Amino acid sequence: MFYLWGISLKLVEVLEKLSNANGVTGREDDVRNLMKNYLKPYVDEIREDKLGNLIAFKKGKKDAPTVMIAAHMDEVGLMIKNIKKKGFLQFTKIGGIDDRILLAQQVIVHTDKGPLTGVIGSKPVHIQKEEERKKVIEADRLFIDIGARDKEEAEKMGVQVGDVVSFDTKFARIGNGVVLGKAFDDRVGCAVMIETLKRLPKVDCNVYAVGTIQEEVGLRGATIAAFQIEPDVGIALDASVAGDMPGVGEGEAPAKMGEGPVLTVADAGLIAHPKVLRLLIDSAKENKIPYQLETGIRGATDAARIALSREGVPSGVVSLPARYIHSPVAVLDLDDVEKAVKLAVAAIENVPKYF
Ligand SMILES: [Zn+2]
Repeated sequence: MFYLWGISLKLVEVLEKLSNANGVTGREDDVRNLMKNYLKPYVDEIREDKLGNLIAFKKGKKDAPTVMIAAHMDEVGLMIKNIKKKGFLQFTKIGGIDDRILLAQQVIVHTDKGPLTGVIGSKPVHIQKEEERKKVIEADRLFIDIGARDKEEAEKMGVQVGDVVSFDTKFARIGNGVVLGKAFDDRVGCAVMIETLKRLPKVDCNVYAVGTIQEEVGLRGATIAAFQIEPDVGIALDASVAGDMPGVGEGEAPAKMGEGPVLTVADAGLIAHPKVLRLLIDSAKENKIPYQLETGIRGATDAARIALSREGVPSGVVSLPARYIHSPVAVLDLDDVEKAVKLAVAAIENVPKYF
């Protein structure tokens, strides 16, 4: 096996393919197909549920506990809501996106006839008034230019109301063991899940690895997946905010890139179950894996819904600190990815000791 900066070359390739794939919420098909192919060799069963979650199962001992690990396949993006007479496309946001980062972005409109490249148009500085320059243009007033001369031409090109739009960002390696790309939230969780199943030895517990849908609009896929699986333990693998950059004060987002996986103590949707937190911390310590504790970030993960499934499921979160998430491009340290895989493998092996 090839290693690069201490991380499996194959794992970087998987992350690259997943990051470049389109999976705007509600249209997760491409990501699901990729994940199905990657996971298949390492599990006993794999299926898609009625709404599109990918559910892979690795069988353990008969009376052993069942653990559900979840990574969401969807990414934030846009959706076409109107085609203007002159051929410009108006859109709505899918998931939490800051209006300020939309301007002048190159995007891909995914139509039934295939992908179209476009740009979110902006008024050149030459003709902006003094007040305009200081103001944020709200998403409602922005438009996508796909080069269509009028509405008919845009329609002929394949555009329909409801088409999803993703950011046109290509994965790249930068610095030393650092990568840049779109949708690391949560394709990095998907990559960690695949690699975890690959490295997982024969374990006692029953493992469900779930690629969930529609996380970014309210943790929807995880809700129905947990109901079907009835796990004893739930662990979400997700991306979290790395605050180690200019302009972020101490304590605002304490997680730093390169200092290991982040364990959520509490977020807007979950207070990690003490036993799950203990399982994760002990597993990290036993294996000398550095970790970071996090609390107080506005946002929630699939673990929030798994925890509240049926009569309740002790749950926790392992996340990857990434800079600039929910924007067209995020930055991630590959060393954290490797450490998150090690932690996930160790924690799954330890589950029967705790549950
Ligand atoms: Zn996420």
